Amino acid sequence: MQYTCTRDNSLRVSATEAILQGLAPNGGLYVPESIPILSENDIKSLSKLSYAERAAVVMSLYLDEFSVEELLEYAKSAYSSEKFGSENPAPLHRVADEYFLELWHGPTCAFKDMALQMLPHLLSASLTKSGSSHDALILTATSGDTGKAALEGFKDVERTKIVVFYPVDGVSDVQKLQMQTQEGNNVYVQAVQGNFDDTQTGVKKIFTDSSVISKIKEAGYKFSSANSINWGRLLPQIVYYLSAYCDLLAEGGITFGEKVDFCVPTGNFGNILSGYYAKCMGVPIGKLICASNSNNVLTDFINTGVYDRNRDFHSTISPSMDILISSNLERLLYHLSGNDSGVVSALMSELSTNGVYSAPEKIKSAMKELMWADYASEEETRTSIENYWRGYSYLADPHTAVAIHVSGKYINQSSEKNTLVTVSTANPYKFSDDVLAAVGVKAGGTEKLYGVSGLPIPPQIKSLKEKTVKFTGSIPRNEMPEAVLTFILGLSQDTV
Ligand SMILES: *Cc1c(COP(=O)(O)O)cnc(C)c1O
Repeated sequence: MQYTCTRDNSLRVSATEAILQGLAPNGGLYVPESIPILSENDIKSLSKLSYAERAAVVMSLYLDEFSVEELLEYAKSAYSSEKFGSENPAPLHRVADEYFLELWHGPTCAFKDMALQMLPHLLSASLTKSGSSHDALILTATSGDTGKAALEGFKDVERTKIVVFYPVDGVSDVQKLQMQTQEGNNVYVQAVQGNFDDTQTGVKKIFTDSSVISKIKEAGYKFSSANSINWGRLLPQIVYYLSAYCDLLAEGGITFGEKVDFCVPTGNFGNILSGYYAKCMGVPIGKLICASNSNNVLTDFINTGVYDRNRDFHSTISPSMDILISSNLERLLYHLSGNDSGVVSALMSELSTNGVYSAPEKIKSAMKELMWADYASEEETRTSIENYWRGYSYLADPHTAVAIHVSGKYINQSSEKNTLVTVSTANPYKFSDDVLAAVGVKAGGTEKLYGVSGLPIPPQIKSLKEKTVKFTGSIPRNEMPEAVLTFILGLSQDTV
């Protein structure tokens, strides 16, 4: 399987190159040249296997240079019960007649672990397989969860160094503390003044800054990305859509062919896009329901075909979805346009110059067929947390609560009665004070939420208080390139 580029489909690279580069040189994203198909029998056989085995089989279809045995070894290590607390890292939790796909049982308590426990294995092996003489410098912008998950995934991984930038006021207290206390001898964390889009734009600039590139190359490094633009992030996420379907089959909740709808709390469009790939592979998925918070640029796009980022940015209680430019949407545009990189290039250049584009009719109608979209205000998000806690004793974090609100709206207006799975993306303890506020209790952090809910505090959050803060302060966006060079080259600021 070769990979091509959303902005130039004459380009061809191998899987290892796509993973090592992250972003294509022309700013486009790598996509598989074709999407492999699973038959009914394939899916039925997969439903008898463990999660790690399912992961190895699915990923091998996209990774010619890797054997199933190798991938199984990575999957067993990435999704071990030591790291995820049980044999199944992505369990379904039933509440009344709907399901939650809980993706937050990993080391950092958010769904990003599903991909970022796997990516370092893929990346490190890609360096070896491609015969690279350079080591990888992972550069990442985070709205909170990616950063910590990437740091945990890459800490002390040989031949890699990792730099994480986060918006100084755009992450929760626990998220900030998780990053400030990061351990490992190859890590660097820096807060940036501005919001997530500013931070992400800063990182994208560094990736294409030829002066920075040549300086780090001399030092023996090449840039790579752990952001969800990297194919190595999306691929592991396809697995849990398939796995949820397999689990429903295995427990008799559905028979093969019955459609399952997934409602996904969405920011950068990586999670829901993996669901699209699973659907294309033959997993009987009905609608993909795209749930946004008040940064509802995707809701408008899916409903009207106009993508318009010229709007106020809202800092919400679901900060990992506070995004106005959803990078992975570019991949969907490419596939829905019939692999037309000319169309995608034109739309992306309109977005970068005017901040707005209007999708051609073909993309617009395919999008409507595939998806349904709405959003939750802050009040609606809080009400959803409260309702599910009081009604079902199910405590949702604010991101998951956004999806709960939207799935409720979808059910009310839909005539189809498919099984509905709401994707649950973070442990509520990551956002204790906002969850407490939603159930009408004054802020008081982890211990207070424990007092109210009685739910076990994840050990990785409990131990944060005892850890040493290693990274403090914040810098303006224009100092980001310098910060990277200072970390890699060990130069003092004024000599850069
Ligand atoms: C990252 C994240 C999201 C958004 O996922 P995307 O792949 O960026 O759409 C939702 N919820 C949580 C908790 C996250 O960390």
